[in-house]
Amino acid sequence: MSEHEHLFPTELIYLDNAATTSCDPRVVEAMVPIFMTQYGNPSSSHVLGRQARALVEEARYRLLHLLARGQGHIVFTSGATESNNCGVHAAVRLMRGDRQRGQILCLSTEHKSLWEPLRVLAGGRGIEVLSVPVDPLGRIDMDDLMAHLSDRVGAVFVQLANSETGVIQNVAEVAAAAHRFGAWCISDVTQAVGKIPVDFRTLGVDMATFNGHKIHGPKGVGALYTAPGIRLEPLLWGGGQERYIRAGTENVASIVGMAKAIEIALELLDEESSRIETMRNRLWEAFSSRDEFGETTWNGRGARMLPTHLNVTFHGIKAQEMMLRVPTIALSAGSACNALTNKPSEVLSSMGLSTDAAEETIRFSLSRYTRQNEIVRTIKLIGQVVEAMTLDEN
Ligand code: PLP
Repeated sequence: MSEHEHLFPTELIYLDNAATTSCDPRVVEAMVPIFMTQYGNPSSSHVLGRQARALVEEARYRLLHLLARGQGHIVFTSGATESNNCGVHAAVRLMRGDRQRGQILCLSTEHKSLWEPLRVLAGGRGIEVLSVPVDPLGRIDMDDLMAHLSDRVGAVFVQLANSETGVIQNVAEVAAAAHRFGAWCISDVTQAVGKIPVDFRTLGVDMATFNGHKIHGPKGVGALYTAPGIRLEPLLWGGGQERYIRAGTENVASIVGMAKAIEIALELLDEESSRIETMRNRLWEAFSSRDEFGETTWNGRGARMLPTHLNVTFHGIKAQEMMLRVPTIALSAGSACNALTNKPSEVLSSMGLSTDAAEETIRFSLSRYTRQNEIVRTIKLIGQVVEAMTLDEN
């Protein structure tokens, strides 16, 4: 047995793909030479440097063509958290130059990597940050958005898909509404890229943020897209990389890996999304129809949703305990980030779930590496555990 084998049980069923995914071997293959032979610094003028520069620019070009019809610009970052922080910085700076605008609107179910910088950077500068509620299915309340939109609003933050429920927002409608009042629309598309068709030009967003590791690419790399005409001020100062917007030697291997991962995901999108959706629906069919699972609710069901997500409340069954009892299935109770704070999910409470119901909720998130037989085993194992926990209760 190798030193780490106990940490990676071979029978592990990985259903936590919304937290992160395994790297596609083709992605790793594209990255390896960049560590070993093509290791130049893109700012160097010799042949290795020029080669590295070409790799970065080709990745940028491919991503822009895959996601934005070749229009606008992409700045590479260290991940979606940094991209979201940069989006907030950019909005706050824009509003500093426009005294009339003192409000930012943000969907209540946005990721913490937006809410936290908004609280610190916008709130700290006297900009009022208003939360736009969602309906019980997790969809933006357009009436509430319209009621809050005015020429005082500088930016609206709305995600394309939610990390916990997979619920998809009508970003194009939100962007059009924001633009009528001269406000920016900034969208975190991290969970959606590579899982549904995404075109930033059709969405009409001013900025979009995403990363590599949710779609079988590397961790620690992400991007901030800006639409044509949007100019960013420097976000990091130093050697002037990334057109003076984000200084620091480019993470060439990861940039190439992220572009490759997104390219592969989009190539496979049609066939894989229906296969994944069928497996996801099979899980729900079992959870909702078999006696051993008791009363269950699929949170967000009825809304447009990613094919990969299934967020289920097993009424009366504590999610944390269930996860402890099925160590061979990697799952998430709420979002991966919340697992650190151990607080009930704000996404679920925004949708109207009680604290108890939120604590009885598990996220199953699939990927193109999920196999039918894993779904069959999951149904069996979860069924046994729920049955045992119900018996313990009685
Ligand atoms: N935004 C969303 C919707 C996410 O799901 C995540 C990942 O948890 C992030 C942002 C943060 O991404 P990263 O891990 O690249 O910083």
